[in-house]
Amino acid sequence: MPTLSQIAQEREIRYFLISFTDLFGVQRSKLVPAASIDRMAADGAGFAGFAAWLDLTPADPDILAVPDPQSLIQLPWQPDVAWLAADLHDIQSEPLAQSPRVVLKRVVQQAAELGYRVKTGVECEYFLLSTDSTQIADGRDRQSKPCYDQQSLMRRYDVIREICDAMLSLGWGAYQNDHEDGNGQFEMNWMYADALITADRHAFFKYMVKSIAERHGLRATFMPKPFAELTGNGCHTHISVWDTADTENLFADPQGELGLSQLGYQFIAGVLNSVEALCAIANPTVNSYKRINAPVTASGATWSPNTASYSGNNRTHTIRIPDIGRFEFRLPDGAANPYLLPAALMAAGLDGIANKSDPGVRQDNNSYTHPPIGLVKTLPGNLLDALRCLKASDVLTHSLGEPFVTAYLNLKHQEWQRANANVTPWELETTLDC
Ligand code: ADP
Ligand code: MG
Ligand code: MG
Ligand code: MG
Ligand code: MG
Repeated sequence: MPTLSQIAQEREIRYFLISFTDLFGVQRSKLVPAASIDRMAADGAGFAGFAAWLDLTPADPDILAVPDPQSLIQLPWQPDVAWLAADLHDIQSEPLAQSPRVVLKRVVQQAAELGYRVKTGVECEYFLLSTDSTQIADGRDRQSKPCYDQQSLMRRYDVIREICDAMLSLGWGAYQNDHEDGNGQFEMNWMYADALITADRHAFFKYMVKSIAERHGLRATFMPKPFAELTGNGCHTHISVWDTADTENLFADPQGELGLSQLGYQFIAGVLNSVEALCAIANPTVNSYKRINAPVTASGATWSPNTASYSGNNRTHTIRIPDIGRFEFRLPDGAANPYLLPAALMAAGLDGIANKSDPGVRQDNNSYTHPPIGLVKTLPGNLLDALRCLKASDVLTHSLGEPFVTAYLNLKHQEWQRANANVTPWELETTLDC
């Protein structure tokens, strides 16, 4: 394996971004000249932990970001710079237990010890806004059912093509792009891969889309529900479990119901058993709860779940089985942390396998018009509700680790308090005359 400085020389890279994702999904970096990269890669780049969302104090010693050379991505729009995903360590060189990439690696390891290799694919929806406002940039994108709208898609061809070309050049297997169900909303799809690879790509995708949009005078947002009346930004996650040798999809069984194996159904049962706690990770912001359990949008459907249920090729449930050998988890939104999301999903599913859990019967109803009330659990109504479920979840605490859950709950409870300190226009309107 060549050193990073040798790679820099060969590929004309002048700077490296040593990047880590914190507990709120913010990417933090040091921009390191190629001449210093080998030393920095060995020792780690130093950061004051309190300055990021990690639940550390200003008195804590520095943390070190140690880049993973396997994750290297040369920026397609700025090829003299390369991005490296890093793992956080403390000054004793121990992995920092609450840092998201470390948490995901821990669960990947738990799966490997059981003989499993988990593969995921994500669908990261986003809106394109004008840089100087919070409005949709394209004033002509106004259909009430804008999904797949060719005209509005092609008005953004310059941006979409640049992002898709970038993914093609990186070998991600990009295969389609479309206008989504909200005005100004788009989705771009690439091939699934091992969970850690997809997580790094997911993090990089968000950085890339924002960067390329900015270069076109636009602002991209993955915010879960920026417009109350429009469909929100989902981050559907598709998942399958393979053997560690990568020869067989253990979720595939042509004889199984809908082509899914018993192992697949046990995994689904695990996800549904932990679904309320999973919301704290899959739907991590105050705003997230305006996307799920939401009233119908201008397009006619929110496309996000209201019930903790599973179905076949039916998009009105939390879990959809669209195809042989995988399922889709439709709960997550655009704010979900690229590392914590697959970690939590795997933790819940592996528990279902360990306990040979049964997901019960499939629901084939239209859950938007006819929710299966009384037959399945409901989803948390707000962030606080979900945080309480996470606190109560032994399954997630055991798998993701107590230090992570404690740190995450501390920071998210503070966020909830900050949100609650606001007196909103709605409150004034409805309560002034009380
Ligand atoms: P849809 O909009 O119908 O939900 P998309 O085509 O937008 O589906 O996204 C499907 C995602 O699922 C892609 O990232 C794809 O690579 C991924 N996927 C397909 N097969 C598997 C599998 N066996 N395991 C994990 N992910 C998969
Ligand atoms: Mg300084
Ligand atoms: Mg899709
Ligand atoms: Mg979509
Ligand atoms: Mg989907």
